[in-house]
Amino acid sequence: MADVHSKEVRSYNMSMIRGKDTKPEILVRKFLLSKGLRYRLHDKRLSGKPDIVFPRYNTAVFIHGCFWHGHKDCKYYVIPKTRTEWWQNKIDLNKANDDKAVFKLISDGWNVIIVWECELKSNTLDETLNSLYHKIVH
Ligand SMILES: [Zn+2]
Repeated sequence: MADVHSKEVRSYNMSMIRGKDTKPEILVRKFLLSKGLRYRLHDKRLSGKPDIVFPRYNTAVFIHGCFWHGHKDCKYYVIPKTRTEWWQNKIDLNKANDDKAVFKLISDGWNVIIVWECELKSNTLDETLNSLYHKIVH
C-alpha cells in the first residue's frame, strides 16, 4: 500500500506512540494544535458543552464515546445483557441530550462535528484526523 500519511501525521503518530496519554480527546487536541488551530475546551457557554470549540471557524466538535452516546450500528455500542432496560434508558437520554445540544448549536449558527471514538482507532485515525481538520477549516 502506498504511504498516504502526510509528514505531519506521521510525526504526530510517532509522538503519540511515545506519549502515554492516548485518551481520544487528547489525541484529537494534539493533532489540531500541531496544525496550528486555536481552540477552547468544554465551553460552558455553549449548548452541550462541546469538547473542542474553534471560535474562528465557528465550529464545535464533540468527541463521543460509542457506548455512552449510542453510536448506531457500532460494534462498541452493545447494551449489557443485565439491567438492559436501565442501560437503554440511560443511553437514550444521553442521545436525546446530544440531539438537543446539536440542534441548539446549529440554530445559533455553529457548525457541529461529531467524532466517534471508534473512528480514532489506529487503522482509521489518520483519515479521521485529516478529514476533521478539513471540515474545520474547509
Ligand atoms: Zn463507534
